[in-house]
Amino acid sequence: MTPPQDLPGKGLEAYRAKRDFASSPEPAGADAPRTPSRPGRHFVVQEHHARSLHWDLRLEHDGTLASWAIPKGVPMHPGEDRLAVRTEDHPLEYLEFEGDIPRGQYGAGRMSIWDTGTYEAEKWRDDEVIVVLEGRRVTGRYAIFRTASADSGRNWMIHRIDPPADPTREPIPDWIPPMLATPAASPPPDDGWAFEVKWDGIRAVTFVEGGRVHLRSRRGRDVTDTYPELRELGPVLGSLPVVLDGEVITFVDGKPSFERLQRRMNLDGRHTGPQLVHDVPVVLVLFDILWLDGHDTTPLPFRERRRLLEQLDLNGPAWQTPPNYEEAGPILEATRGQGLEGVVAKKLDSPYEPGVRSPNWVKLKHFETGDFVVAGWVEGEGGRAGRIGALVLAAHDSEGRLRYAGKVGSGLTDAELADLGRMLGPAASPASPLAEDVDSAVHWVEPHLVASVCFAELTRAGVVRAASWRGLRPDVDAANVTLASLGAERRND
Ligand code: MN
Repeated sequence: MTPPQDLPGKGLEAYRAKRDFASSPEPAGADAPRTPSRPGRHFVVQEHHARSLHWDLRLEHDGTLASWAIPKGVPMHPGEDRLAVRTEDHPLEYLEFEGDIPRGQYGAGRMSIWDTGTYEAEKWRDDEVIVVLEGRRVTGRYAIFRTASADSGRNWMIHRIDPPADPTREPIPDWIPPMLATPAASPPPDDGWAFEVKWDGIRAVTFVEGGRVHLRSRRGRDVTDTYPELRELGPVLGSLPVVLDGEVITFVDGKPSFERLQRRMNLDGRHTGPQLVHDVPVVLVLFDILWLDGHDTTPLPFRERRRLLEQLDLNGPAWQTPPNYEEAGPILEATRGQGLEGVVAKKLDSPYEPGVRSPNWVKLKHFETGDFVVAGWVEGEGGRAGRIGALVLAAHDSEGRLRYAGKVGSGLTDAELADLGRMLGPAASPASPLAEDVDSAVHWVEPHLVASVCFAELTRAGVVRAASWRGLRPDVDAANVTLASLGAERRND
């Protein structure tokens, strides 16, 4: 928008042309550049919750404020060049400006002062500025320089020259593999544990820096675009860099529904439109903090990490920090009563162990879950006569042969049965894909579909007991469904 002749920016013409001062609370600026009443050269950094969150750095220069919009904020660490888009000069009155620019106006959104102070210019050229900022939050020497690219001259970079003000401060990591829980049949017998609901969704490690959210799956895949509503967590954290551990879930009738979440989890951003976000909204349940404001928090005891997490008070439209409890009994009973998956116990004095299945986190499940290959179906009775009554499940043994693993019929809705009928019809196969004989009238299919099932028990032979349906797993390859991954000790006969 800004024509190149605005650059490096002299006067307030461009500033005024963009704004309607009858509607915007922003200052129009004095006609004659005013002489600042305060000694020294001043700067301000405003946090601007415009259509896209950014920070505006403004340096008093030649009677106006030379301005740059920095999408990720002023870097606190050397060794990082951040984009700083040169914007029109602002009037000196803007040094004190805070307020809401109304909808429809240029730069609509909340503008607040993030930092202010004085600075010394060591160099001021049309394409490079070196300043020493002396603010409340930022102190240090910065270079701001125009990039050589063939744009209109608007794209500059900002770089911290001085060492970090806090030398123990480190840049946020790209990836921290999540800590995993060890299964157990009963709560730990000793004291010093916290208990929380085991949420049935998909694990997500959330990286936030400069108000930008990056969501990664348990194995580190970037799933940010799959859950666009979680981007709104970024502006809430503003310039505070954090890494959070949690689970993405969706609720149906107040209960997490893994089956429903299928509609979201296997899509990327190109297919995740506003309608789907509206129909199947997700909630990011936060339960740990791994990084905070330049510091690794994983070595801290869980008790302390939990305190830091709660201080952030992250409870919004699509994210929550649910409580945890000191006693196992009531939460075990409540989750069982509500049909929730189970409880996770966390040792209060234990560190976060990235990527480790640790005895310091213990999962107590009311039921087990696992993925199975669909090998066929059997007809139902009553209302389901002649149609699918139950699916025949299977998993590969260590020789790669497909073995019978039981059946699942409960938990399937009529709509799901109709969908399955459509999918399994064309996959019909005259021969059994299983390595053994099964004595029932099975309609066999090509073994490509994978289903997630919950069950009370998996026998030593690898057959599910009291199974109920959770949903399809189009993201899982049938070839990867093995008895070993289900934890069965089973035969390889
Ligand atoms: Mn701005």
